[in-house]
Amino acid sequence: MKADINEFLTALKAKTAGEKEFHQAVQEVVESIWDVYQQNPRYKKAKILERMTEPERVIMFRVPWVDDLGEVQINRGYRVEFNSALGPYKGGLRFHPTVTLSILKFLGFEQTFKNSLTSLPMGGGKGGSDFSPKGKSDNEIMRFCQSFMTELQRHIGPHTDVPAGDIGVGGREIGYLFGQYKRIRNEFTGVLTGKGLAWGGSLIRPEATGFGAVYFVHHMLSLLGKDIAGQTFSVSGFGNVAWGAITKIAELGGKVVTISGPDGYIYDADGIHGEKIDYLLELRATNNDIVEPYAEEFGAKFYPDRRPWEQKVDIAIPCATENEVNLEDAQLLVKNGCFLLAEASNMGCTADAAEYLIKAISYAPGKAVNAGGVAVSGLEMTQNSQRLNWTREEVDGRLHIIMREIHDTCVRYGREGDKINYVKGANVGGFVKVADAMLAQGVV
Ligand code: GLU
Repeated sequence: MKADINEFLTALKAKTAGEKEFHQAVQEVVESIWDVYQQNPRYKKAKILERMTEPERVIMFRVPWVDDLGEVQINRGYRVEFNSALGPYKGGLRFHPTVTLSILKFLGFEQTFKNSLTSLPMGGGKGGSDFSPKGKSDNEIMRFCQSFMTELQRHIGPHTDVPAGDIGVGGREIGYLFGQYKRIRNEFTGVLTGKGLAWGGSLIRPEATGFGAVYFVHHMLSLLGKDIAGQTFSVSGFGNVAWGAITKIAELGGKVVTISGPDGYIYDADGIHGEKIDYLLELRATNNDIVEPYAEEFGAKFYPDRRPWEQKVDIAIPCATENEVNLEDAQLLVKNGCFLLAEASNMGCTADAAEYLIKAISYAPGKAVNAGGVAVSGLEMTQNSQRLNWTREEVDGRLHIIMREIHDTCVRYGREGDKINYVKGANVGGFVKVADAMLAQGVV
């Protein structure tokens, strides 16, 4: 079996040289689904895996814009339309200097399985740019978004491809992107999700990724006979996902003691709650991408250039970016008593950290844990099609059900003795639906 997997991966790597994040994401999925793949000769005959690992379409384009000093700036824009077997391509846009084709291919590939797990009719896609919003003025961000959309609008549409936010793309950016799409196409449609409430957005969408992650953790804990209340959490990041997760954990009686940024991390022994949670939004709005000011504001401790995983906690929820927990971090967490790690970031653990955590503690991957964000995006699309706005309770209630069902799927496909292998459960559960749809739709 190992030899066959290696043969497949060697061929993939030869075709996609240098795309290391993409290789990492594919390897994890292929190892999980290999048994199912072998047991079903129809998948093999139709070369489902070879097709699934080749995006249906990749669009790369120049994004020229003029900064506040009148200088011309050039960035690169991308949209990876990965898989449309289950619905229109769906997934976020990331604006960050680390964005490359490899990063977006890994994210688009993961998105296909994540969206499948939500049970909503959405295919997988991802896009973005190497543009850094850090330190940019509002006008510069608007001009960049308008230039980006001037090209992207040719390729997307409410029945074709529906982008949303991701790192560096929040409500403000979605507003500028939507405005430019509407202006060029003369159409008011649900072509983007994460829109403002007054112009087609959904209640709970800003909170959805963080809330969904905590609902998922609640189900993981239930299986262990435990509860959120009374547990101590470490969280990384201080953006939208961390904010949503911390809000829900505080509401349910848990205590979050860390947040982090590119500059280091904060340890707040008293826990992050109340006005401290609101302060995260202020910090984010400064566009400086540093977390240190929290320490001065609330008298907490700041550890420059370090990661929060060295603190003693019961549960860790990485909410920042890929590969933010390495093997050493994972071992330190477990040594200090951490018994559960749920990734709210996409591919938050390195491959060796993930392999270790599967055996050591209760560990769940991003594509299951953070699916609440795109799930509520799917509900935003439904509301746009109906031309209706649902109540907070309606959306939150559906998010609860979706997260419970994703957890059930992980348990169904991931049970190994008295343990749940959530990585296998999420990968097999996500894969089977996409593979069967591809078989039904022929060689396309
Ligand atoms: N970027 C988010 C994710 O990784 C949300 C995508 C969406 O809402 O389309 O799932």
